[in-house]
Amino acid sequence: MLDMKIKPQRGETYERRMMIMKDSNCGYCMGGEILAGFGIKICDLQVSQLILFKEQSHPGRVIVAYKDHVSELVDISDEERNLFFQDVATAAKALHKAFHPDKVNYGAYGDGGCHLHFHLVPKYKDEFEWGTPFAMNPGKTYLTEEEYAQMIEKIKAAL
Ligand SMILES: [Zn+2]
Repeated sequence: MLDMKIKPQRGETYERRMMIMKDSNCGYCMGGEILAGFGIKICDLQVSQLILFKEQSHPGRVIVAYKDHVSELVDISDEERNLFFQDVATAAKALHKAFHPDKVNYGAYGDGGCHLHFHLVPKYKDEFEWGTPFAMNPGKTYLTEEEYAQMIEKIKAAL
């Protein structure tokens, strides 16, 4: 039923409707400094953005964020959801290829942010948080700008 939501309501332009699909407090919608607080955009995928998570206790951790400010998987059409999951799979394949994790964990929470996104968290056998759920932000491991750039290049090369 997303089409119903996107369609301009009476007296509303399409552009105005699309603005409603964005939230000015949301890093995924706005990018810039809000996004820089936790992530670095790597690239656009079909219907989402691929973002490197700055906290890198799990090497290769990324976020796949849907293009619009919608809260729930059930708020988008089947077609859009299929494309979104293709994007999640594309990102996961790149992580497997680039970092060879033993498992990728997937987490979609967003109680506060309400912008549909998945955390893709590579896990390595017997290393940090192996065998347990990953913490949302362990706040332990941050890289230099150069190391972030290298990691982004590595992911891009594997896409
Ligand atoms: Zn948003």
